[in-house]
Amino acid sequence: MTASRRPRPDRRPGPAGAPPIAIDVGGLRVEIVRKAIRHLHLRVLAPAGLVRVSTPLWVDDDAVRRMVGAKRDWIRRQQARLADRPPVVPAQMLSGEHHDFRGRRYRLQVIETGGAPRVQLGAGLELYVRTGTGIEQRAAILHEWYRRQLQAVLPDLIARWEAAIGVRVAAWGVKRMRTRWGSCNVVARRIWLNLELARHPPEHLEYVVVHELLHLLEAGHGARFKALMDVHLPSWRTLRRDLRRFGSESHPQSMFERRGEVQAGDPEPGSTRRRRRMPE
Ligand SMILES: [Zn+2]
Repeated sequence: MTASRRPRPDRRPGPAGAPPIAIDVGGLRVEIVRKAIRHLHLRVLAPAGLVRVSTPLWVDDDAVRRMVGAKRDWIRRQQARLADRPPVVPAQMLSGEHHDFRGRRYRLQVIETGGAPRVQLGAGLELYVRTGTGIEQRAAILHEWYRRQLQAVLPDLIARWEAAIGVRVAAWGVKRMRTRWGSCNVVARRIWLNLELARHPPEHLEYVVVHELLHLLEAGHGARFKALMDVHLPSWRTLRRDLRRFGSESHPQSMFERRGEVQAGDPEPGSTRRRRRMPE
């Protein structure tokens, strides 16, 4: 068996490791990314079903080949599932496109107006813009509307779960995050929710809120954290699965990743909304 070990010129190296290489495993093209991690991770990526294995630096190609060989049937099933999906077309912000809000799919209707741009939920998602408003700006108007919708429901949701769990956050906010649904700074007692959650059913938002608030009791994701989730939100495993599934099936890679404009963890200037502060 020959390995076609060739660096891919179009790939940038990861943050902490060598650039990916590609090998052939019985006709399957497998991309290997070596980095400073402890375990081997195998993923089948949307949209095309690319097989990517992330490995610790010391794992060689033969070990990857054995692992991929053992998982061959599973990989084929995942690839078949991806192939059944409708193709993903980047949003052009044009009438007729579908956009999600609170877990429901709406048809976008772009309406030209002389007044202030705004979004209105009618039979569809009505986006009022001035003549000549481009894609980026249309998207920005919609995202701002998404943000306000989250900010409208979050105070009650957070307050309810603070009371149920017995914690208080000092601050919370909504921002774009590329790789996480939420985050919690346990020292500052500040939580962030991903703007993307505006597109999801409310129960997904609730799941992420509970998850982040519970970090105020337990920072890690170990047995204690899971036990706390079991107590407060017994259906959390199902919700987590649905959250991931919704995100990948409706608009894989999320509405923000397409233009590559967001770096993971970067706070976006102007996106912070701190609605509540505890006395310092
Ligand atoms: Zn967490």
